[in-house]
Amino acid sequence: MSYNIAIDGPAGAGKSTIAKKIAKNMRFIYVDTGAMYRAMALYFIRNGIPAEDGEKISRECKDVDITIRYVDGEQVVFLNGENVNGLIRTEEVGNMASASSINPDVRKKLVELQQLLARESDVVMDGRDIGTCVLPDADVKVYLTASSTVRAKRRYDELTAKGIHCDFAQIEKDIIERDERDMNREISPLRQAKDATLVDSSDMTIEEVVEVITGLCKEAF
Ligand code: C5P
Repeated sequence: MSYNIAIDGPAGAGKSTIAKKIAKNMRFIYVDTGAMYRAMALYFIRNGIPAEDGEKISRECKDVDITIRYVDGEQVVFLNGENVNGLIRTEEVGNMASASSINPDVRKKLVELQQLLARESDVVMDGRDIGTCVLPDADVKVYLTASSTVRAKRRYDELTAKGIHCDFAQIEKDIIERDERDMNREISPLRQAKDATLVDSSDMTIEEVVEVITGLCKEAF
């Protein structure tokens, strides 16, 4: 039997930073489910398939091969055999991932892959529907959030540090739009699972958040 930690929350809440640290401390595998939706989105962008064309998205996603491998402890996502880790972190891909992830066939395919990974290994998995849908029996569930302004500021700093020119107001607008779509979609909307612990990181450091979640893990295991 494997141990599972589920971390859900909106865009820019710090899920991946925190989940990576928890995974390292616990010697668990970190599974970034957003990267899977992003790889799928990259395929749709490259092939000129609009998110609004649900029928085409449903048809095409069945033939897309998304695979996860671990190289030096880092998750690498392969899209039809190509390592796409360096291509999926853009706002364009993020927005397409949000728009195309409403499709039930896209979700079914990726949820099956996520459940398989969690059965095979001890995992810290982050996403939008992990505690509510992918791993309803996870040993620890956290809903990690922060105000939209704080989240936009974090994303802005991250992009600026990489030398990417961006507009703060546009980033905040995108974040609010993405929240809106992720929280109001019909299938697996983003929401806090009944048995998840709410952690608002607006006024917390990364270390403080890691400490709180590590405490929850110690209690559970
Ligand atoms: O977390 P990240 O920003 O990489 O996710 C990109 C998009 O993928 C999200 O906005 C969301 O719409 C979708 N997603 C999802 N379910 C997950 C993870 C991500 O619907 N478990």
